[in-house]
Amino acid sequence: MNVKTSLRVVERFRDLFGEQFQISAPLARYTSARVGGPAEMFVVVNHALELQTAVELAYAQHIPYFILGGGSNILVSDAGIRGLVILNKARAVQFRHTGASVVCTAESGMNLSSLARQCIGKGLGGLEWAVNVPGTVGGAVVGNSGAHGGDVNSNLLAATVWEPGRGARIYTNEELQYGYRDSILKREQGKQIWRRVVLSAELELKLEAVNVLTARAEAFTTHRKQTQPGGASCGSMFKNPQNYYAGYLIETAGLKGVRVGGAHISEKHANFFINDEDATAEDIRALFAEAWNSVREQFGVEMELEVELVGEWEFEER
Ligand SMILES: Cc1cc2nc3c(=O)[nH]c(=O)nc-3n(C[C@H](O)[C@H](O)[C@H](O)COP(=O)(O)OP(=O)(O)OC[C@H]3O[C@@H](n4cnc5c(N)ncnc54)[C@H](O)[C@@H]3O)c2cc1C
Repeated sequence: MNVKTSLRVVERFRDLFGEQFQISAPLARYTSARVGGPAEMFVVVNHALELQTAVELAYAQHIPYFILGGGSNILVSDAGIRGLVILNKARAVQFRHTGASVVCTAESGMNLSSLARQCIGKGLGGLEWAVNVPGTVGGAVVGNSGAHGGDVNSNLLAATVWEPGRGARIYTNEELQYGYRDSILKREQGKQIWRRVVLSAELELKLEAVNVLTARAEAFTTHRKQTQPGGASCGSMFKNPQNYYAGYLIETAGLKGVRVGGAHISEKHANFFINDEDATAEDIRALFAEAWNSVREQFGVEMELEVELVGEWEFEER
């Protein structure tokens, strides 16, 4: 961006978004690992239409944009993110009865676990697996989030997706090509500057007794508390390789408790990397590199990151 373009762009964003727009905003507070440098430009959107307006404007001005949901599946570099970061707080939710089922249409910035709890309270089953999964509906649609045997793929009917240069259109579940923590949208990560943007999602729910749903959700919560650590982290650092659990491999490699700078590998679950002493993103990167190398050396397994590295990094990505 040259100076003239950047001034014009900044003015345009200020006109449209007022105080929702900022220059050089620190991002660590918006991520679950509590690390990461600033966004060059930053805007908060509160409705799907604002989200669409922001990406359309960035795209028209050739500004790279990044959609930030709950920041719970990313590691933002210490150098921060160039271009525009759009913090998605578009949270409108609607319910529509269709025979035996209910269709919930949620804007993509809706918090997934809040939505799951709202559904339970209304006697709508299907999302109990998500009661403790951090992040937004949009992030979950992209990554096919899942837990306790459920996932987005099993609930999602369709999603409204904005395509760069084309506008919004409805994607069916099949078009999203879901796999384990994977979708056609996730596969764009790191490859496309102009990525598709989820505006909203339609989820199918079934009528069920509130006490049954509540009991199921409580069992999931208890299990999670027993097996996963608290504290600031990105959740599972690596995907489970075929036939293995990433946490088991890292634990067996003897890495539980290993520390780099302000981050350590959890004693409770070795696929969780905890920021407990003002870690930098580089501390966490160095720690997962050590885990990746040790697991490859000892077991010949090349683990794949579940977490996305975002922003400016100085090392070469695999
Ligand atoms: C403690 C902890 C526990 C977790 N447990 C689980 C679990 O049980 N199961 C599980 O699957 N995951 C789990 N995760 C990971 C995380 O919660 C999910 O991956 C979540 O769906 C990420 O959503 P988000 O809004 O935080 O996405 P972000 O981290 O903000 O973004 C992730 C990616 O999605 C993109 N994105 C976000 N919103 C949109 C949008 N509207 N349109 C287009 N792209 C978008 C971002 O640009 C980025 O590329 C856990 C994480 C933590 C920290």
